Amino acid sequence: MRLIFEQDCRIKNEIESTLGLDEFKSILNNLFGYKLEPILYLVITIDDTLKFINTVNEYCEMLNEEKLDIKDKNIEVVGKCITGLSEIGILQQAIIIKECILRGFLYFILHKCHGYNFDNDILKKINSNAIIFLHEFGHAIDGQQRVCRAERRNIPTNDFDAISEIGQSLFGEYFAEKCAYDKILTIADVNRIESTKENLIDYITNEYKIDKYTKVRRIIYFFVQYIAYYHVKKIKVPFYDEYKNDEKICIYIECLHEMENVIIFLNLLYPYIAKRENIKEFVRVYYKIMEL
Ligand SMILES: [Zn+2]
Repeated sequence: MRLIFEQDCRIKNEIESTLGLDEFKSILNNLFGYKLEPILYLVITIDDTLKFINTVNEYCEMLNEEKLDIKDKNIEVVGKCITGLSEIGILQQAIIIKECILRGFLYFILHKCHGYNFDNDILKKINSNAIIFLHEFGHAIDGQQRVCRAERRNIPTNDFDAISEIGQSLFGEYFAEKCAYDKILTIADVNRIESTKENLIDYITNEYKIDKYTKVRRIIYFFVQYIAYYHVKKIKVPFYDEYKNDEKICIYIECLHEMENVIIFLNLLYPYIAKRENIKEFVRVYYKIMEL
């Protein structure tokens, strides 16, 4: 894995003056073990979103992948894992992140393993960015286990296929978040549940100017990341009890509970979740939520 710092990134100096580049690289290489090999590049861009997207698209092209399509302006992209296949069919990946995300991970290590102190509010941000960083590595591991480009490139021909694709991609979000928590919880008990839950509630209760399709997709996107934390901790998901008396949210509870069961079911089948009979339960619950 090559570590590439783009021009004007300040984070490289911060690493050099704290952990040192070699130590930092060795931490990265020991994070997920052998599975880092297909990741050819870890690219760090400045925090400017346009610059970030340009870099992502540059690497998409390099790895024979489709370029980034950011229709949903409500979501800020800060990290992206690209999984592609070379001409001769070899898996090749790149992780592109903004430097604020890498800084979160660096400060997390400095705080947990080297005694650096930060204010509580700053720590929250650090934890959250560290999880995002590991989440992208989770996507890389997921990609290594179940991405087959030929399968993914099938253009959906009907609603079932389209939602089944969404299901597979959202399962990837669950998987990546679980990887992140798995790793980070071995060092410290941190979570970003508050912000994930806020986003989830926000999409359930607010009328964004988005179509129903996108709305449901967003709800599930945050929901699966929310439950990932509790699944890793092996704690019952508290959401259903917490919101059973909330007027706007309670109607979602039954469906979300069903969605949790779908995710648990798919997780048992992992990585073989793409089959029609395996994903059809996801599609059913997805439609059910659309009807609410
Ligand atoms: Zn993700």
